[in-house]
Amino acid sequence: MSNLDQEPVSWRVQATVEPAGQPIEPRRAAVGESTVVARYFPSRRRTAVGPWCFLDAYGPDDVSGGPGMQVGPHPHIGLQTVTWLFDGEVLHRDSLGNSQLVRPGELNLMTAGAGMTHAEHSPTPHPPWLYGLQLWVALPDIDRSVAPAFAHHPNLPEVELDGATATVVAGHFAGAASPAAVYSALVGAEVRFGTAPALLPLDSTFEHALLVVDGALVIEGRRLERGACAYFGTGRDHLAGAADPLARVMLLGGEPLGEPLVMWWNFVGRTTEEIAEARADWEAGRQFGALPGLEAERMAAPPLPPGRLVPRS
Ligand code: MN
Repeated sequence: MSNLDQEPVSWRVQATVEPAGQPIEPRRAAVGESTVVARYFPSRRRTAVGPWCFLDAYGPDDVSGGPGMQVGPHPHIGLQTVTWLFDGEVLHRDSLGNSQLVRPGELNLMTAGAGMTHAEHSPTPHPPWLYGLQLWVALPDIDRSVAPAFAHHPNLPEVELDGATATVVAGHFAGAASPAAVYSALVGAEVRFGTAPALLPLDSTFEHALLVVDGALVIEGRRLERGACAYFGTGRDHLAGAADPLARVMLLGGEPLGEPLVMWWNFVGRTTEEIAEARADWEAGRQFGALPGLEAERMAAPPLPPGRLVPRS
């Protein structure tokens, strides 16, 4: 997935203070040729949740009469991309030569590190529905130039909780660990509720966000419908709630970012100069590899805004 805001803005990301349980309101953004997403962060009010620095949700969309996702080759640096589906299929192809279909319950994890190109398309033919998340994890400064890598994880740990079952997508949750390679303390888990009151154990050093994927639930008196996202700050060792049967959420969390990030287009860096260099390299066809056969769909970088990349205020 690619950040294709028509007027890309830069965000200097740092830990932000917001009351617990606050809604994170999405905005709509076009991604690729035919997909409209709900972008929850980064935004003015919420730049990141732990190291999770980007959250797009797409669907559920009926793609039976159209091409579905059509996101051509584009570059990334300084981050990992996490693709997690609830319905449908997405074909990932990258500059390391990987071609991997991802389905619900499976994780596609791309570590862009020093620089990598990928493309994401609905396969042909494809299932009628598409519903999923595109997430980015900011790499810590010490690891952000690691060699590019891609991994597909079809088998992830499941944990039984009071009133819920969870798939541990990334990091640690409720005593289980995802096999996916990550570079900081974090959690990404899909949680499915039953009919009994539920209790989600949390790492109290983490901040968290909870996105309702299906159904609705009540957490601490606040009812959250599908599409609602709520932020919970550090210092909590659990969340207690009651859900509609078959409700499902995505839980994201991690230690608050301890370092400033500069995010622009598909790049996560630390300085304006570094971002400008990455953009120039992409435009010149350097450093990011290629996707033979897909170059006609290669995305052009938008122009850099004048001056320093600083937060919108
Ligand atoms: Mn991408």
